[in-house]
Amino acid sequence: MAELKFTQQQEILRKAVREFVEKEVKPVAAKLDAESRFPMDIFLKMGKLGFAGVFVPGEYGGAGLGMTERAIILEELGRHAAGLAMALMTHHLGVDAILSYGTEEQKKKYLPDLAAGRKISGLAVTEPTGGSDVAGQLSTAAHEDGKWVINGRKCFITNSASAEVNVITARTGEDAKGRPAFSAFIVENTAEGFSPGREEDKVGLRGSSTGDLLMNGCSVGDASLLGGEGNGMKMALALFTKIGRTGMAAIGLGIIRACLEDGVKFAKDRVLYGKPLSKLQAIQFEIARNRIDYEAARLLTYNAVGLKEGGAGADAEIAAAKYFATEGAVRAAKRTMDLMGGYGVINEYPVGRYMRDALTTISCGGTSHIMQIIVAGQTLN
Ligand SMILES: Cc1cc2nc3c(=O)[nH]c(=O)nc-3n(C[C@H](O)[C@H](O)[C@H](O)COP(=O)(O)OP(=O)(O)OC[C@H]3O[C@@H](n4cnc5c(N)ncnc54)[C@H](O)[C@@H]3O)c2cc1C
Repeated sequence: MAELKFTQQQEILRKAVREFVEKEVKPVAAKLDAESRFPMDIFLKMGKLGFAGVFVPGEYGGAGLGMTERAIILEELGRHAAGLAMALMTHHLGVDAILSYGTEEQKKKYLPDLAAGRKISGLAVTEPTGGSDVAGQLSTAAHEDGKWVINGRKCFITNSASAEVNVITARTGEDAKGRPAFSAFIVENTAEGFSPGREEDKVGLRGSSTGDLLMNGCSVGDASLLGGEGNGMKMALALFTKIGRTGMAAIGLGIIRACLEDGVKFAKDRVLYGKPLSKLQAIQFEIARNRIDYEAARLLTYNAVGLKEGGAGADAEIAAAKYFATEGAVRAAKRTMDLMGGYGVINEYPVGRYMRDALTTISCGGTSHIMQIIVAGQTLN
């Protein structure tokens, strides 16, 4: 097996993203967290740099790069502001829904604004009946007088307050075996009967907004149906894997790196018994474990992204990467808090935020239990 190696262009991209994040994002990351605020101004800047449409072909206004480049951007953003990375990650869910399943007309209508970051997108599937039980969605869409009328409530939806172009799934009947059939719709935030609902006050990832979407007799035209009637479930599951879980793995990776780098700095700066903390072997073990989690999460994440991009199914590899990187982020944050002693719980340091962000990544895009079920299922088969 060859060593994981990035191309020269990918290394240049990483450097450019890192410089942007350190200059524009790092200085405000703590404030965004404290205020639980999604920064539209920074998102617009990210759009201008090509982050919002990184994998969108140039003909639709995107950067024309791929999923590895997307993961690099999310890792670098996640290093300092996992909440903002979450908002971008979810924007990509809506963007890829339209890019991969949209008609030419839908792509031309929506992608240029979304790729430039002038408009924000998202994918709304989860309902109060349970996110893991995807087929338990109760929202309905009925075809009446040449229009689709959608009724229902989505919850825990990232970018709920800011997305102008929402991709929403709803039940549209039954399949040939009598099971619920779902379809996806592009719903603009100006659609009749559509409104964002309550916003959640989250433990972490607070640089992104999360909340309800309410469809109360929401009426959209035939041109809003995305990917054909009855294909909504298949599309949502494919997007969760290709975009959602790879993205969460990259964000988890960024958080682990934050814990590793901050832990090393603290251990070298802090003097105890007349010498740097880093001289204590117990502290070296914490650093080593963070390094090992980072290296392993990095290999799993970029390997899974590369496999998927190469055309493989990679469901288990992506689930493993998502599981390991997000759980690894929690472990790394705990170790860094531990090695910092009392300073680890002082909010002047960002490590408490890393822990809250890491904990919040676990359920996004499918919980750790669900990731293990996917890995076990494929392994046992
Ligand atoms: C910050 C944040 C952002 C999100 N953004 C979006 C978004 O943009 N769009 C969207 O559609 N959704 C979004 N979600 C929803 C997310 O996908 C769900 O929270 C997740 O799928 C879990 O669903 P749930 O919260 O309803 O938990 P539940 O499904 O109720 O699960 C509860 C517990 O049961 C366990 N469990 C469930 N089923 C099984 C099983 N079969 N075997 C073993 N254990 C099981 C779970 O692992 C969990 O521990 C977001 C969630 C969060 C927290």
